Amino acid sequence: MRISITGLADERYHRPLRLIANLFFEECIVSLTPQKEHDLSIAFTVQLTETIHVEGVLIDKEGTKEKATYEKALMPASNDKEHFKQVKNAVAHVYLTILQEWTGITQKWGILTGIRPTKLLHRQMQKQVPKSIAHQQLREEYLITDEKIELMQQIVDRQLSVIPDLYDLQKEVSIYIGIPFCPTKCAYCTFPAYAINGRQGSVDSFLGGLHYEMKTIGEWLKANNVKITTVYYGGGTPTSISAEEMDMLYEEMYDSFPDVEHIREITVEAGRPDTITPEKLEVLKKWHIDRISINPQSYTQETLKAIGRHHTVEETIDKFHLAREMGMNNINMDLIIGLPGEGVEEFSYSLNETEKLMPESLTVHTLSFKRASEMTRNKDKYKVADRMEAEKMMNMAESWTREHNYAPYYLYRQKNILGNLENVGYSLPNQDSIYNILIMEEQQTIIGIGCGAASKFIHPETGEITHFANPKDPKTYNDSFEKYTEDKIQLLNEHFNIQESRA
Ligand code: SF4
Repeated sequence: MRISITGLADERYHRPLRLIANLFFEECIVSLTPQKEHDLSIAFTVQLTETIHVEGVLIDKEGTKEKATYEKALMPASNDKEHFKQVKNAVAHVYLTILQEWTGITQKWGILTGIRPTKLLHRQMQKQVPKSIAHQQLREEYLITDEKIELMQQIVDRQLSVIPDLYDLQKEVSIYIGIPFCPTKCAYCTFPAYAINGRQGSVDSFLGGLHYEMKTIGEWLKANNVKITTVYYGGGTPTSISAEEMDMLYEEMYDSFPDVEHIREITVEAGRPDTITPEKLEVLKKWHIDRISINPQSYTQETLKAIGRHHTVEETIDKFHLAREMGMNNINMDLIIGLPGEGVEEFSYSLNETEKLMPESLTVHTLSFKRASEMTRNKDKYKVADRMEAEKMMNMAESWTREHNYAPYYLYRQKNILGNLENVGYSLPNQDSIYNILIMEEQQTIIGIGCGAASKFIHPETGEITHFANPKDPKTYNDSFEKYTEDKIQLLNEHFNIQESRA
């Protein structure tokens, strides 16, 4: 699909309009200068007075016309970025409306293409805007459907019941620890995940760097009396390293981090069942880590093979039982909607199998085509469900979880996600992951330690976010972890308004 747009000279329109077009069309080229060769032309007129008035006229190759207009008050803005955002949203409103008319497809998330829709609602709740007005704004300005607004509200309410002080946690931090190794690489994955076999040398040096980071960051937290709310070990698969290595790592955590006994939650992803052993479960228990993830993704063996997960369905089930027997009482499991070759039948089977295990939380992802994944590079090899079927599976997950006493507690979206759907974390009562809520709602600083770990520094007063990423591959990490730690300390000093840098 080639869309030729006129009337919008500012290049900043290009990205948001392309992202919205991608919700409707698989391969799409959007141009802001008139193009002779095109499938659709859309002419915009934007008038700014006390209001923003936008008109859009679409004409297709057959000469069919669609027209839409939208007008809203132009609010005073503190800077150009704020001003542009208002106008851009009004343009997006008209653009989405005409594309919906022309295609007959309703985008349930309206003009939202970002990752965290619930943040919008939190912002209003923090300002104590009444729910009905906040909902009206989501419906009218963002064109979000009532179904999704209801989901957003349900999640926001649940998050506030799990973390009543969610809006007051800016003076604490959470820690993400990235361990970039996995037994093999899954086809849809773009995480830093290096095959662990044959790389023992680099695992050793990586862990050396990780211990250093934990020590140094821990020292800073202690010196400045900053508490830790949650710790999350992700990656990769943090249980890919040996039981001894895990033991030393958690010992480091207890030695270096402040007040570990009072951290509200410590999670270790043990996503790949083929990494779980009784020895490693012992180590987790020894250090009082009781929230883990064991991720089936699917209970259909052919699917696991097709996506490059070299373990069996039985292994997932066996390891789940083993973890239970060994005292793990907060287990999350991930499922993915729309894996290659899977439809309603396979997904229904996965839900039935889940019912036999009843993990404390279930995260339902929708397959997304990330640019760098093997699956995206070889898209033709992988046959996936269409939009309608993906939506059906999402509805099945919704009803299944409701019937089994799970409630949605966090939600995020991704680019190029199948059917423009979402990823939703469900949990049984009081088993919600605090870390997942904190990372999603961006209410406090998250310090990323280790390979590929992304830090987000949230300014306690302005809420402004500064991103900082550690290197993704172990080799670069090993060469530069000291410098990266130093830079993070600098950012922590700035954000927590600490004048004197550490020696
Ligand atoms: S187990 Fe997770 S991190 Fe590892 S390759 Fe698969 S999707 Fe990526």
